Amino acid sequence: MAYFDNGNEIFKQARRNHYAVGAYNTNNLEWTKALLQAAEETRTPLLIQASTGAGKYMGGYKVIKDLTADLMDSMDISVPVILNLDHGDYDSAVECIKLGFSSVMFDGHNLPTDENLAKTREIIKLAHERGISVEAEIGKIGENQGADGGELASVADAKLFVAAGVDKLACGIGNIHGVYPEGWKGLNFERLQEIATAVPDVPLVLHGGSGIPREQVEKAISLGIAKININTEFQLAFQSATRKYFEAGKDQDKAHKGYDPRKLLLPGTEAISDAMKEMISWMGTPSIDSKVKSAGFDRASLNEE
Ligand SMILES: [Zn+2]
Repeated sequence: MAYFDNGNEIFKQARRNHYAVGAYNTNNLEWTKALLQAAEETRTPLLIQASTGAGKYMGGYKVIKDLTADLMDSMDISVPVILNLDHGDYDSAVECIKLGFSSVMFDGHNLPTDENLAKTREIIKLAHERGISVEAEIGKIGENQGADGGELASVADAKLFVAAGVDKLACGIGNIHGVYPEGWKGLNFERLQEIATAVPDVPLVLHGGSGIPREQVEKAISLGIAKININTEFQLAFQSATRKYFEAGKDQDKAHKGYDPRKLLLPGTEAISDAMKEMISWMGTPSIDSKVKSAGFDRASLNEE
């Protein structure tokens, strides 16, 4: 039976030793398989997360939890896997805690700080009673903010939320979700350094990790970022590989049943695994052991009815 790690020790070790562990959003069955496969093959810990939108798309958080657990069993996954709710509202966080996610992010950035803090405390209590990890967000990490990027988190808020007991802290340092705009000014390392100094033991989280230049990612990790959220990068990898399949007319190859969804989703799925392996090398995530393992797709199954 699959077991979800809460990741607390994994991310603390990452912060202490100046590397990061990727947190990857899932969107469907193929995505989940691609993430698990790349983690197993690189022998690195994996955090799979679902946004509230993905929760609705996939048929509910229970589907995501059961699907991930069942795939871990059928794929014989032996690296630690953390299952996290990404940017949860209060109700979703409570639901995922009760369902057995091992980690939840409560995103109360739209609330006044007092209320955000009070709700975060409630989530922490519910989660910690069950050994579940909690991430909070300070400083709004939105979308489409222009060249300045997202709002900067305050050092005072960082201290407040850490004192309340959060296990991981997402802080706005000029990062945003989605594709970075032309002329984006980059991450604010000064603020990251101030926050890292104020909360020296808590793993810091970089949202919107897709599209940040490698040297900035590496510098952020050296200053205390231990978890990097990646979603857009893999969506683009999936899109590009899928586009190539159609542009090459492979979907129209009736003799080889190129129209079969299992075939036309495969290049994109493999592109996600490849993109993830690349990110792992950027983040310096060490392998948990030296076991060589292939968790490749059963290609023969593509030709079965
Ligand atoms: Zn985010």
